[in-house]
Amino acid sequence: MSGRVIVAGLGPGAENLITPEVTAALADATDVVGYIPYVRRVAPRLGLTRHESDNRVELDRARHALELAQKGARVVVVSSGDSGVFAMASALFEALEAGPEAWRGLDIRVLPGITAMLAAAARAGAPLGHDFCAINLSDNLKPWSLIEKRLRLAVEADFAMAFYNPRSLARREGFDRVLKILRETCEPTRLILFARAVSTPEEALTIVPLTEARPEMADMRTVVIVGSSQTRQIPGTDLVYTPRGVSA
Ligand code: SAH
Repeated sequence: MSGRVIVAGLGPGAENLITPEVTAALADATDVVGYIPYVRRVAPRLGLTRHESDNRVELDRARHALELAQKGARVVVVSSGDSGVFAMASALFEALEAGPEAWRGLDIRVLPGITAMLAAAARAGAPLGHDFCAINLSDNLKPWSLIEKRLRLAVEADFAMAFYNPRSLARREGFDRVLKILRETCEPTRLILFARAVSTPEEALTIVPLTEARPEMADMRTVVIVGSSQTRQIPGTDLVYTPRGVSA
């Protein structure tokens, strides 16, 4: 039987937010490849080899998956959330494009998953109900100047914004700067949602106006959603939403 690679998102954490399609692909796999905590979310079973790798070795991991498939394995490469959002699907295609011609004949598929910002938005109400954008705040793979440019232009365009990888122990200053720019460019009442570990037992949601936002409210398990100028909280509730339209 010829090999294949499926790149799949495991959703934000909860078992019931993994799509049936991804569950079926995992049940049929011979090998699972991914970052350690994600591979550990796949239960061990007879006939399944789990290959755990460390953070930041995405290209090696992608090449490994393609090599296994070339030898006939049915590989699932796992990411959290959706594998196409700041995750393994692009890494796999980077490896494919740079790799041996023979890899291009492999059966390669990407299965969607529930990405963090959608799970977080649903918990809070509907903050992404009008136009929005997503920005990865990690400067591992792009210069900080580009992050800042995109942030300023997104504010100018009045998008709601979802920030992934907002703040790690090694990268604290970036998010400080983001808050500073928001304070310079948005009104003080602008709503910010800090959604941590959504759909896991550690889930915590905090909704504050920009004036009360603090850098420590974000970590690597948090997705931050900044409302547009239209995003509001329904008085007497925790519900935050962005109306569907903006009048001319
Ligand atoms: N592919 C993933 C994103 C990977 S980048 C997805 O589609 O969700 C990792 C970042 O995703 C984290 O730093 C955090 O910002 C966000 N994230 C992932 N899972 C999360 C969760 N359960 N709750 C809140 N944020 C999460």
